[in-house]
Amino acid sequence: MPGIVIIGAGQAGASLAAEARKLGYAGPITLIGDEPVAPYQRPPLSKAYLLGQVGLDRMALRATSFWGDHGINLKVGRNVTAIVREGGTVRAGAESFHYEHLVIATGSSARQLPEAQGGLLQGVYTIRNIADVDAMAAEFRPDRKFLIVGGGYIGLEAAAVGAKLGLKVTLIETAPRILQRVAAAETSNFFRELHLSNGVDIRENTGLDRLVGTGRVSGAVLSDGTELAVDFAIVGIGIMPRTQLAQEADLVIENGIRTDAHGRTSDQHIWAVGDCASFPHEGGRIRLESVGHAIHHGEVVARNILGTTQAYEAKPWFWSDQYDLKLQIAGLNAGYDRVVERTGEEGSRSIWYYRGDCLLAVDAINDARAYMVGKRILESRHTISPEYVVDAATDVKALISRAVPVSAASTVG
Ligand code: ADP
Repeated sequence: MPGIVIIGAGQAGASLAAEARKLGYAGPITLIGDEPVAPYQRPPLSKAYLLGQVGLDRMALRATSFWGDHGINLKVGRNVTAIVREGGTVRAGAESFHYEHLVIATGSSARQLPEAQGGLLQGVYTIRNIADVDAMAAEFRPDRKFLIVGGGYIGLEAAAVGAKLGLKVTLIETAPRILQRVAAAETSNFFRELHLSNGVDIRENTGLDRLVGTGRVSGAVLSDGTELAVDFAIVGIGIMPRTQLAQEADLVIENGIRTDAHGRTSDQHIWAVGDCASFPHEGGRIRLESVGHAIHHGEVVARNILGTTQAYEAKPWFWSDQYDLKLQIAGLNAGYDRVVERTGEEGSRSIWYYRGDCLLAVDAINDARAYMVGKRILESRHTISPEYVVDAATDVKALISRAVPVSAASTVG
């Protein structure tokens, strides 16, 4: 009997499989992953796992017995090569899986440096899978020099690990500031200072001309002509949704696999969840790259496959660990026109993003209370006047009682 087949055993696929079973779905559930291991948490890859502080056993999403106990047919190490919509089958090499409902949860892959820029040299790494990090682990020895291309969260997390382990780190960012794509200047400034004080050489407004070496990388030529000797390089220049299978099956692609609010693609039997899917959001369409989204999206779409019609409403949250510091982000700051900064206790702080009077997002740096308060205000569709936020004498929790519904703020303002 064909049941639910899920392509991709990452956080979104695993969440959907578990939720469908929890809701009482009685048919077969097959979860197919191309990596050779059971579903695991990806965020520690660029943090504690790279540092050598946690092993794969502690990153597993579920106990090993969970999948079998719940009748979820977990197929690891299978590379799905085609979706055959007529008749409802997916192919993985010589194996075929029949589906009634197909879920594409293929996630995203790290953008690679082109070959012409030295992307194929040995000693050049990206961070996406456990195999990527295992491959680079032996490079992290004290006093070695490495280059990080890209000043997003992946690049900065790798820089923190390198500096902590005693390596000499240079990080280049083409944009005028690190984190420009995802954060306000206040947050970029904080992280720049943090890394500089830990000995990381950060060069903004600086791209990569090419990596050089014979067989293995041994140097880099930067866009300003500077030449650096390096022992290895990490490329953290973003990720791309994995849409190839969907595209080859003629599903509609629009910055990811296009779905409706319920998670359904242009084929009524096929759904898409997590990083690879684009979905309607506030009159537009977005794609999100975060664990929180993957879990929640998987759960909601599981319900929809079983017959409810719940529109997915993203409640974005995200975090990054660098050195002894934890950044937590609630909301989406896209379209902000101003920010205010709040000073918390013992060096903690938070950056609050607004469009007009409407609170959009909060970056909380070592400030779990500000994060919780911001998240609560955002998720209840409220906003809080910036003048209360910046007043350090007001306890952060008191902001909740001063928050007003978004519609009220726009009529008052
Ligand atoms: P990630 O999730 O990999 O951190 P982001 O897109 O958030 O991805 O960040 C990647 C960063 O890399 C961006 O700030 C972008 O400006 C920068 N970048 C992209 N290409 C280059 C390049 N060739 N040299 C230096 N920086 C780059």
